[in-house]
Amino acid sequence: MKFVSFSDGEQVPALGMGTWAMGESRALREQEIRSLQRGIELGMSLIDTAEMYGDGAAETLVGKAIAGRREQVFLVSKVYPHHASRQGTIAACERSLTRLATDCIDLYLLHWRGNVPFGETIAAFERLQRDGKIRHWGASNLDPADMAELVATPGGDRVATDQVLYNLSRRGIEWDLLPWCGERKIPLMAYSPIEQARLLDEPRLQKLAAQIGQPAAQLALAWVLSRRNVIAIPKAAQGAHVDENYGALACPLGDDVLQALDAIFPPPRRAKPLEML
Ligand code: NDP
Repeated sequence: MKFVSFSDGEQVPALGMGTWAMGESRALREQEIRSLQRGIELGMSLIDTAEMYGDGAAETLVGKAIAGRREQVFLVSKVYPHHASRQGTIAACERSLTRLATDCIDLYLLHWRGNVPFGETIAAFERLQRDGKIRHWGASNLDPADMAELVATPGGDRVATDQVLYNLSRRGIEWDLLPWCGERKIPLMAYSPIEQARLLDEPRLQKLAAQIGQPAAQLALAWVLSRRNVIAIPKAAQGAHVDENYGALACPLGDDVLQALDAIFPPPRRAKPLEML
């Protein structure tokens, strides 16, 4: 496993697992649990979820998947912006903890910026930390201006990460957010790292993957993993996808492949608004 360090030195796997849309289908539930457990066994033990996903159904599923394995897992969940007030954050966290069947979330994120001032949400995160309910806190979908404002808010310099949309077809953050966070030793979490599988339909990516003899998903993930200070969280309900994604760790990309990918998916040449899904 490759690891990424938070600014306090704690290391987490660079390749974790997402859970958006998990827990919503009774027919898929056992398969989804097995896939998450398979990923944990392989060391992809950072699991990303949110109170939003399936209205708590994803957190409940994660709770079942990590039962008896909690200490192996780095657990990430998120609070809705409209819950992110001083009291609302604490109440939302308590509900998440119950669904996750654990007493502590390792990293708790503000899902996106809403109307609650950052100072209130940070005060709630600090309270949750003092009470041992969360270990780290961070944000999601914040652009560089939002991040600068957050960091300038009292206590805001403790932000552990910004979780944003990042994959070969969404490279805008390389212009500003990625270097900004790099200078401050704040790792980024790349969500939708294979663009919800849409990237795999790109003919030029398919052709390059075939030339290298690697599945396109693995190539796309290996590219995200080649970035410094970035954690990738692909979601895979199918066990075969979990294994294939794990394989991305075993194939560091050479300069020739990186250049070929730059030609297909050019890096940004100017600032772009932060993209979100
Ligand atoms: P991903 O880019 O991870 O793509 C998931 C899709 O790709 C699923 O349909 C999955 O299929 C398929 N897939 C996974 N691995 C393979 C493979 N090896 N070959 C072919 N297909 C594959 O999209 P997500 O949007 O789910 O992003 C990942 C996670 O990021 C989310 O689950 C969530 O935890 C987080 N996220 C956070 C957001 C935020 O606002 N903070 C927004 C969006 C996502 P299958 O499931 O059938 O295996």
